[in-house]
Amino acid sequence: MTWQPNPYAIPLFIGAFPLVAIAGAAWRRRSNLAARLFFGFTLSALGLVLTYGLELLSADLDSMMVWLRFEYFFHWGVVFWPLFALAYSGHEAWITRRRVLALFIVPTIILALVWTNQAHGLIWRTTAARMIGSVALFDRTYGIALWVWMAYLSTLFLVGHVILIRDALHTRSGHRAQVVWLGLALLLPAVGATMTVTGLTPIPLLDPTPYSIALSCFPLAVSVFRYHLFDLVPAAYEQVIESMDDAVMVCDAQFRIVQTNSAAAQLTGRTASGLHGQSIEPVLAEITDFKLDPRIEDAIGTRAEIVSRAAADPRYFDLRASPLRNRQGIVTGQVFVLREITDRKRVEQQALDLALERERVRLLQTFIQNASHDFRTPISVILTSAYLLDKLGERASTQITTRAALEHSADRDQPDEQLLAAAEAVTKMRGKVEAIQVSATRLEKLVESMLEVLQLERTPQFEFAPADVNSLVADCVQAYQAAAVRNKLRLEFQPDSALPPSPVDAYQLRRAVQQLIDNALHYTPPGGAVAVKTYASAAAAVIQISDTGIGIRAADLPHIFEQFYRADQARSDATGGAGLGLAIANCIVTAHQGRIEVESAEGQGSVFRIHLPLNALRP
Ligand code: ADP
Repeated sequence: MTWQPNPYAIPLFIGAFPLVAIAGAAWRRRSNLAARLFFGFTLSALGLVLTYGLELLSADLDSMMVWLRFEYFFHWGVVFWPLFALAYSGHEAWITRRRVLALFIVPTIILALVWTNQAHGLIWRTTAARMIGSVALFDRTYGIALWVWMAYLSTLFLVGHVILIRDALHTRSGHRAQVVWLGLALLLPAVGATMTVTGLTPIPLLDPTPYSIALSCFPLAVSVFRYHLFDLVPAAYEQVIESMDDAVMVCDAQFRIVQTNSAAAQLTGRTASGLHGQSIEPVLAEITDFKLDPRIEDAIGTRAEIVSRAAADPRYFDLRASPLRNRQGIVTGQVFVLREITDRKRVEQQALDLALERERVRLLQTFIQNASHDFRTPISVILTSAYLLDKLGERASTQITTRAALEHSADRDQPDEQLLAAAEAVTKMRGKVEAIQVSATRLEKLVESMLEVLQLERTPQFEFAPADVNSLVADCVQAYQAAAVRNKLRLEFQPDSALPPSPVDAYQLRRAVQQLIDNALHYTPPGGAVAVKTYASAAAAVIQISDTGIGIRAADLPHIFEQFYRADQARSDATGGAGLGLAIANCIVTAHQGRIEVESAEGQGSVFRIHLPLNALRP
């Protein structure tokens, strides 16, 4: 290899320094695909500039050819340009391994032809080293493959530029400046290459392309360092905005929409292009009741909760308008972000409704409690009075009977009319008194039941201690034997002697069991049977009360534990239940962490089972 001093090489080596800095800047942001591709591009430019510089320092054709061959290797860098443009403008999805490999097919063939040119002359038909002044320069005539290569390079350049220009036209001004400087930087090598192939060079045989590349460092540096090419990668920003669930609308100073995301399009029911250029006021007015103050100063930092009427159900949004300022601090636009808060609003509303409902229930309970207390005294006065009246009636009836017997013995043929009328009046009165007693007793029972339910719900007082469930149930059955006999019913108890003691509140559980036995007797016609038994199942003690009574309709079954629910209103009215017995029993069993199960067939009877967990010690 022979060398020569050549002043034309100096600008190239100087130009290499800024290119190194730019490549370094891109490498530092290599986590970003656009920056990586830009790094490949600048590295190739650097390689090209340096190899051409070395070619210029070569004194004979063979040495020149060595560097030339390497130079073509760096031509590959042009492929990075359209790829960079794609990544930079947010079309990363286009960059697939297959496409990239396809783009490298032509450069690979060209490189192979460069290295084997002597055999075919498809790149250079003739090559020579010619003296221009005191320096030897490479002289050549081009072969057909070189023109193909130039066409390919120009296409790649053009595609890259078109992508960037399109992107610049659709995006913010800050980004546009980056693109303009970038485009300028790439225009210079394009001009240089055109000069080379057309032969319109200022110094004969000196290739202007590497010089134009070195020169392009300056606009490149402006784009990279002044406009932070990779710190503000617009594609990334757009992707972030696009992927946001919040509707984003960017407006200029005149409140015209310049950018939106798909959430905004969805909310407004328009396409992005249908929104762009529109004034934001009517767009917002269409979907909400929000009135935007058209004066920009007033809209700065606006925050409001707005309701969208676009859908059938109202949707709630938190609207924020934040000003966009330029470097001088002047407001140049607004970003409107509408965040949907319907779910939050719904939860808040539900919490409010629940609190109101609780308050209503509390007031109602207080009212029922007070009213029930107030009812107790008059009811007991009525019952006492009715009792006394009945006694008076009984006495009057006895006196009338005695008087009638006397008159009968006095051999009076005609019975005393007055005596008969008095006897009838007393009988009627006693009938009415009995009706009063029945109703007042029912009322008393209702009041007591209501107070019981309230007490169980508001201040449940349970004391759990291990107890023998069998003897507890036996007591209950015993207490109802007389009633069973009165109603001509069989009441039997079959205890499971192996049942272990259970942790129960004996007083409360007794009430629950009695309630179920009471119902069974109540709803079983004379001649029927009520069977009570206990047994252990898995981890529970079970108390079963079955009857051969009227049964419960399937439609009523899910409701019988509700307060005041009575399966057959007409019949229940006659039999006088308040519809609270099962609710109370259920409350008690639930407090034992147990449950009541019911099986029933209309006309055949019912089976109620109380399941009491054996290991539950606390309510
Ligand atoms: P009530 O005071 O009306 O008996 P309950 O809460 O004890 O109220 O019972 C609710 C309803 O369930 C009753 O009205 C009745 O229709 C039905 N019911 C409860 N136990 C039985 C049973 N053993 N057989 C048939 N129906 C029953």
